[in-house]
Amino acid sequence: MFQALEKIKEQVLKTGASMAGAGLVTGTWGNISARVPGKNLFVVTPSGMSYDLMEKADLVIVDDTGRVVEGARKPSTELMLHLALYNARVQTGAIVHTHSIYASALAVAGKSLPPVLEDQVQLAGGAVPVTRYARAGTADLASAAVEALGQSNAVLLANHGLVGLGRTVEEAYLVCQVVEKAARVYILAELVGRAAVLPPGEVALLREAFLTCYGQPGK
Ligand SMILES: [Zn+2]
Repeated sequence: MFQALEKIKEQVLKTGASMAGAGLVTGTWGNISARVPGKNLFVVTPSGMSYDLMEKADLVIVDDTGRVVEGARKPSTELMLHLALYNARVQTGAIVHTHSIYASALAVAGKSLPPVLEDQVQLAGGAVPVTRYARAGTADLASAAVEALGQSNAVLLANHGLVGLGRTVEEAYLVCQVVEKAARVYILAELVGRAAVLPPGEVALLREAFLTCYGQPGK
């Protein structure tokens, strides 16, 4: 249990540094959280701290009401958003929130991302919906994200950015990376012609194949 928590904290720090380095967030924006295995507790990145300088001791552990149970830092200003999504999707193990450019462009246009690429469908589950507008850091944004999410593992926050859900921090981060790539490809495809959207039957088959057959046996 102790080892598992330490490993999760390491994954959160590694992912924060990676998403800052990859330009998926600018400055201290964006945030990451992960469920403490077997408990209704969550590791959350602190508010307004550079990912390059962040250490394990800067991470905060909160309960499902947002009360800090470990750590001296103030948790992310999007804590309510994270907790609402864990509450709505109990199997979620981690959540990553980025401000990546192409996903944000769709979110500013108020457009959802239709299912256009294999990896997007496999990881995000299909189309990525967009929320109604709600101000960053509010309970209203948390409600808007839960309302829009549906069965997707990702949601675009209107005029704001992207949230990815996964079983692990790595998977939630991969969801954000793949959705950003799909948003980029979709926007480019619309510029040169018309993006062909995958039909519902194909989306279901791709997702099912990914969940049951992808990867190495026993992994
Ligand atoms: Zn944000």
